[in-house]
Amino acid sequence: MTSTHGSATLDRERLRGLAETVTGEVLTPGTDGYDDARHVFFRHLDQTPAVIVQPRDTDDTAAAVAFAQANGLEIAVRGGGHSGAAHSTVEGGLVIDLRHLDSVEIDIDNRTARVGGGATAGAVTVALAEHGLVLGFGDTDSVGVGGITLGGGVGFLSRLHGLTIDNLLAVELVTADGRVVVADADQHPDLFWALRGGGGNFGVVTRFTFRLHRVEQVLGGMLILPATADTIAGFVRHAQEAPDELTCIVNVMPAPPMPFLEPAQHGQLVIFALLTFVGTAAEAEPVLAPFRALAPPLADLLQEMPYAGMFQPEPDDYHPVAAGRNGYADDVDGAGAQLVLDTLTAQLAKPEVQMAVVQLRPLGGAIARVRTDATAYAHRQRALMLNVAAIVSRADELEAQLPWLETLKAALCDGTPGGYANFVYDDGPGRIHDIYPPDTYTRLAQVKAQWDPDNTFHRNHTVLPAV
Ligand SMILES: Cc1cc2nc3c(=O)[nH]c(=O)nc-3n(C[C@H](O)[C@H](O)[C@H](O)COP(=O)(O)OP(=O)(O)OC[C@H]3O[C@@H](n4cnc5c(N)ncnc54)[C@H](O)[C@@H]3O)c2cc1C
Repeated sequence: MTSTHGSATLDRERLRGLAETVTGEVLTPGTDGYDDARHVFFRHLDQTPAVIVQPRDTDDTAAAVAFAQANGLEIAVRGGGHSGAAHSTVEGGLVIDLRHLDSVEIDIDNRTARVGGGATAGAVTVALAEHGLVLGFGDTDSVGVGGITLGGGVGFLSRLHGLTIDNLLAVELVTADGRVVVADADQHPDLFWALRGGGGNFGVVTRFTFRLHRVEQVLGGMLILPATADTIAGFVRHAQEAPDELTCIVNVMPAPPMPFLEPAQHGQLVIFALLTFVGTAAEAEPVLAPFRALAPPLADLLQEMPYAGMFQPEPDDYHPVAAGRNGYADDVDGAGAQLVLDTLTAQLAKPEVQMAVVQLRPLGGAIARVRTDATAYAHRQRALMLNVAAIVSRADELEAQLPWLETLKAALCDGTPGGYANFVYDDGPGRIHDIYPPDTYTRLAQVKAQWDPDNTFHRNHTVLPAV
């Protein structure tokens, strides 16, 4: 008997064999839990895999890879399911959903942690907080450690402690030929280099080992200012000039209807910034003074808190329909900031645009102190990352957003190429060379040829094996 879904025709006997081999769940359309497991973070990325395997250990993971290969099924590997490019789901293929590989083993004395390939950033952050330890991921607790780490990892602590990959010590992964290998500075160093920025191109990561930092308290939270060309340009400049202890994520967006904002401010364009200062309130005071002097803050919610307090839990039912564009710039001047304001004002006037936002992330600091060729994340010297995004209510409204997203991004980036794997959506095949400049791409292609010559793992920003 066979079961047909999407492009795959599966033999039920073989499926039963897989279910008997693995200790985790094997879900197919119609089985309990399949529909829940099918969905990813973005609501419009709605696909129907033929099989979803939820491994409980490395052997299960290897069995899932082997099953997919034996049955000609395309593989999608899922950590936290936040890819904006549908990389962690696949129509008619096999999803390896790592949600059960969520262990966090902390070695307090050596300040290291071994983290399962399917853990989430928030869960790891909370586990570390119990010991006064931190590791920087991004800004959202439900993002998977798997995806964010393999792409680089830009977050609340990046200017002080670098990208997530700058704190990565070792990786255990299941390769395309079913081997379980450990890559670190001594074992398979080329593979370890490639895994730090090269995404899911090389196998399924079942465990990461990270270096941790001791940070008990930060001064952090939201600072909301009116958005004008001067405040935006000034905010970014101050964030770039600040000591590394301060990392800022600067969003220009309409003010949400938050209770601490005057009703008249709701919907007005504001600078909605998330600031993390590693140190005390007293130490932060002079660093923050220039930001507060730009304009009277509409809300100043900065406070001393454990680092884990920076991660606000999201509602489980938050699944946006969104499009985004990503790039790098050196700064934003007054003209660039005015363009941001004009473009957002024009787009937000359209009834289908629920949210339009420009996010500016001043980089530098510890990120820039790592050599450009030390990892597969190559944009070490870029001063500013930018994301331009739109949220609409229906998938068929997304395409109309792309031209303005592209135009605004190109104007702010001043035409310079560059892209960050974790924020590049499905922008077309040429973008791979923005994410990986020529030398990086060539080296990645050689590593790919060694570890995944048949391109088994291609639901990612795919590097083709060198020939
Ligand atoms: C709301 C939101 C906030 C974000 N904030 C930040 C941020 O602050 N900083 C930042 O750097 N990024 C951020 N991102 C981007 C995020 O890092 C990427 O979307 C990342 O790929 C998500 O990882 P994931 O495991 O959740 O995604 P998934 O969709 O599960 O995976 C993404 C890619 O990684 C691969 N992958 C995942 N886990 C593994 C694994 N264990 N082994 C092998 N391959 C794997 C997948 O196959 C896929 O190609 C954000 C994204 C969203 C949606």
